[in-house]
Amino acid sequence: MKKEDIELLGNAHIATSIDTPLRPDAFDKSDNEKINAIQRHFEAIMHELGLDLTDDSLSGTPYRFAKMYVKELFYGLNPNNRPKISTFHNKYGYKKMLVEKDINIDSSCEHHFLPIVGIAHIGYIPKDKVVGLSKINRLVDYYAHRPQVQERLCLQVLKDLQDALETEDVIVVITAKHLCVSSRGIKDKNSSTTTIEYGGNFIEPEQRNAFLKLID
Ligand SMILES: [Zn+2]
Repeated sequence: MKKEDIELLGNAHIATSIDTPLRPDAFDKSDNEKINAIQRHFEAIMHELGLDLTDDSLSGTPYRFAKMYVKELFYGLNPNNRPKISTFHNKYGYKKMLVEKDINIDSSCEHHFLPIVGIAHIGYIPKDKVVGLSKINRLVDYYAHRPQVQERLCLQVLKDLQDALETEDVIVVITAKHLCVSSRGIKDKNSSTTTIEYGGNFIEPEQRNAFLKLID
């Protein structure tokens, strides 16, 4: 890819598919093998920047960086880390909308590897199944902890909840600040990005507006 095209793509924040583009051999290596390799690579990057890696303050940085990438920021790449979404029979027969508001989003933009910070609001209308409330937060956290594009994050959460709850009646709204917009490039400190994805009953404007009113 040409350098100009890379810049264009990075600034347009294009999402190509709902699935995170992973290689088939993505998890052939163990976490520790990955941490060792990334540590060496990051050491080389710091070295290229001219930093003295024998300095006490810097010598542990490549390891800290590698561990943070594999175990924290990008733990959500590995499907083995997906939280178990235990659902329960909707024994109350609750058939109205349930809304989970202000769920923290801590993610990273895949074009610049800089933080995306914001909140998500999720609504669903139960059929036969309901889900433990904290499971929704955990699911959002899992998909956020990948190199992401906000549109795709929104779709991945929607699709997973629709599958787990066995209903199309789910809506996901995410509002977030992208550090690649606020700290570099245009350096706009105030703007934020909102994405909205939904299915089933939420296609009806009346149902969608009822949800939007509750999260207002
Ligand atoms: Zn970015």
